[in-house]
Amino acid sequence: MKRAIYPGSFDPITHGHLDIAERALRIFDEVIIAVASNSAKQPFFTIEERMKLVEESLKDIEGGERVKVTSFDGLMVDFAYDSGATAVIRGLRAVSDFEFEFQMALTNRKLEERLETLFLMPKETYTYLSSRLVKELARLNGDISSFVPPHVEKALKERNS
Ligand code: ADP
Repeated sequence: MKRAIYPGSFDPITHGHLDIAERALRIFDEVIIAVASNSAKQPFFTIEERMKLVEESLKDIEGGERVKVTSFDGLMVDFAYDSGATAVIRGLRAVSDFEFEFQMALTNRKLEERLETLFLMPKETYTYLSSRLVKELARLNGDISSFVPPHVEKALKERNS
């Protein structure tokens, strides 16, 4: 069975993340969405909330039943290898993502050479979409309905009210 890990903050999950997960599911039998709990970023949602929002989103994607959601802290590559994953999925939106992702992929390869990093590109309409943008728009009461599933929109609205 081919298993990949898709790590990130998912703070919160957006249609961009889901688009990448769907693409990964066309290549792998199982995708583990691994929500980082030790991110240097100060998260907006707790780890439990972020995982729950991911879980709820999976109903809407093709192959969602083949996704496992977990949290992790510590070194991603160790967690990935111990989970039986052979690849790390990352999304590439624009050239601006490239430098950081390139550095991280090569560092991760140095740490664990048995793991391959695979970059997938989302649908064009999601190339400018980020969790940060969604949070900012939600704070300003902007319309985020085309960026996130309805339950994520609701969670953001409740948090901001
Ligand atoms: P991290 O803190 O690890 O960057 P994110 O949740 O922001 O966590 O992103 C996780 C992964 O999903 C990254 O590879 C990121 O590039 C990718 N990603 C985020 N938003 C999108 C999007 N709109 N389209 C494609 N990939 C995305």
